[in-house]
Amino acid sequence: MSRNENRPLDVLTDDRTLTRFSGDMSGYKIRPTCVAMPSNEGELIRTAKMAYERGVVITARGGGSNQSGSAVGRGMILGTTKLNAIIMVDREIALVQTGVWHGALMKRAQALGSIVPYDPSSSSFCTIGGNVATNATGLRGVKYGSVDRWLRSVRLFNPRFGILDSREVLPEELAQGLMRLKSEFQEDSEILATFKARKGVKSSSGYNLPAILENEEPGKMLVHLMSGSVGTLGILTEVELKLITAPSQKSLFLSLHHGLEEACEAVPEILALRPSSLELMDAYGTKELIKAGWDLPEETRASLIIEFDEDPVQAGKALMEMLAFRSIRTIEIAQPERRSSLWRMRGEMLLRIRRAYEDDQHRFIPFADDLAVPVGQLGPFVNDIMRLFEKEGLMVIIYGHVGEGNVHVRPLVPSDGWQERLRRLASECLRITFSHGGSMTGEHGMGRNRAPFLIEEFGRRTYQAFQELKQLFDPEDLLNRGAMLSSTDLTEGLSFEP
Ligand SMILES: Cc1cc2nc3c(=O)[nH]c(=O)nc-3n(C[C@H](O)[C@H](O)[C@H](O)COP(=O)(O)OP(=O)(O)OC[C@H]3O[C@@H](n4cnc5c(N)ncnc54)[C@H](O)[C@@H]3O)c2cc1C
Repeated sequence: MSRNENRPLDVLTDDRTLTRFSGDMSGYKIRPTCVAMPSNEGELIRTAKMAYERGVVITARGGGSNQSGSAVGRGMILGTTKLNAIIMVDREIALVQTGVWHGALMKRAQALGSIVPYDPSSSSFCTIGGNVATNATGLRGVKYGSVDRWLRSVRLFNPRFGILDSREVLPEELAQGLMRLKSEFQEDSEILATFKARKGVKSSSGYNLPAILENEEPGKMLVHLMSGSVGTLGILTEVELKLITAPSQKSLFLSLHHGLEEACEAVPEILALRPSSLELMDAYGTKELIKAGWDLPEETRASLIIEFDEDPVQAGKALMEMLAFRSIRTIEIAQPERRSSLWRMRGEMLLRIRRAYEDDQHRFIPFADDLAVPVGQLGPFVNDIMRLFEKEGLMVIIYGHVGEGNVHVRPLVPSDGWQERLRRLASECLRITFSHGGSMTGEHGMGRNRAPFLIEEFGRRTYQAFQELKQLFDPEDLLNRGAMLSSTDLTEGLSFEP
């Protein structure tokens, strides 16, 4: 179809498209009114403006791989996957449009001898824009942190202020608004205490107010406010990311344990050796390894995957000594094919377990899928969670990035009375998490299944600060309504169907 450059993009309203974009990977099924897939920034702006002027809610969407119900919504779905140009890349910096797949950028970086430092397991089906909007991390988070650490600049469309580019001067009203919030927040002992207490806890929850507290320049504040903002402050069109040189050597270990608590208790000591990955798999995950032909002792109930990319020989030796009495056995995986096979298994683990256990009556609905606590709390925290599901008589899988205190908890929920059970279990899991000083999302980001609990995680005053920030960027609440500041019940729009 030929299009006049000045016209808004034609939007799609056919049944097939609306059905396809009704879901993401969270289980929510919410039918949008229309879907637009702009192929350049100009089209995106004109289309978003048109929607905003008509009071239509706009939900930005990348790969739709989130587990929080953050890329679905009534109104318009604004897909970014056609904005997929890698504008510039060298060994140190990449400037990309936000619809670029993480895996595609990683490949380009690797060809230059570099890597994108953060590494979600969903790399092949998530976009850079989605990564920033959820503050993604992943398999190397223990050493390299989340995307926010590597974010250098952002360019986005905000319907109130127009195009915002952190490398240029921001509109005065926005700059003044951010500075006003800064003076207000830095005088507020409750807000300061809330963020002080959260230091050291991995989190993608709420707005990143430290971006305002810790930066002096509105442009810099904007960059880091976008991390974890789940499309509620603006629609990202370009970002600049710092890349790092690919490590020249690595060593990889699989350590086998009698149980989750034993494995978790080894984590703080392993961290002292500066691993680049420290991943946990429970008995179900470990069983998938055995099914795939790994010869492991029968009594294994949990395993840790540990990788080093710095002094790998020395660190490996120290690890073997340390785990000699703390594990059933620790195996060094030296062959390249076995290494790739182990990482592949870890990446596919959730999908394999889902295939093995889900049926019409049972589903692993995500709602406590991304809990994070201070590392020192891991053992007792995991115990409390296991006790909860034991009492409930439900199978639960527990795995994740334990090096950062981040565990994915996925119970197998029966269809009978599932909504009521979900509400109760979500509340319980979060109560346990908060009682250990944790956060309801370490990396998957905010969305419909977490928004109603945000006030509990941060307290009333900080929640109010979030509202003030949202008011500055989106007074009409038309950007991804319901994903961040909402008290709507988590089961509304959630479907038991796959
Ligand atoms: C099997 C599996 C493994 C996973 N592993 C990890 C992992 O290791 N680490 C991790 O962090 N996450 C992981 N995830 C979660 C998910 O892949 C990430 O949250 C990812 O960053 C989402 O990217 P996306 O492009 O799919 O975004 P979407 O799901 O499309 O959107 C997510 C949010 O970002 C917003 N958004 C998207 N694009 C833009 C934009 N251009 N501007 C503004 N807002 C935007 C959306 O509105 C939505 O709120 C995993 C998911 C699955 C299914």
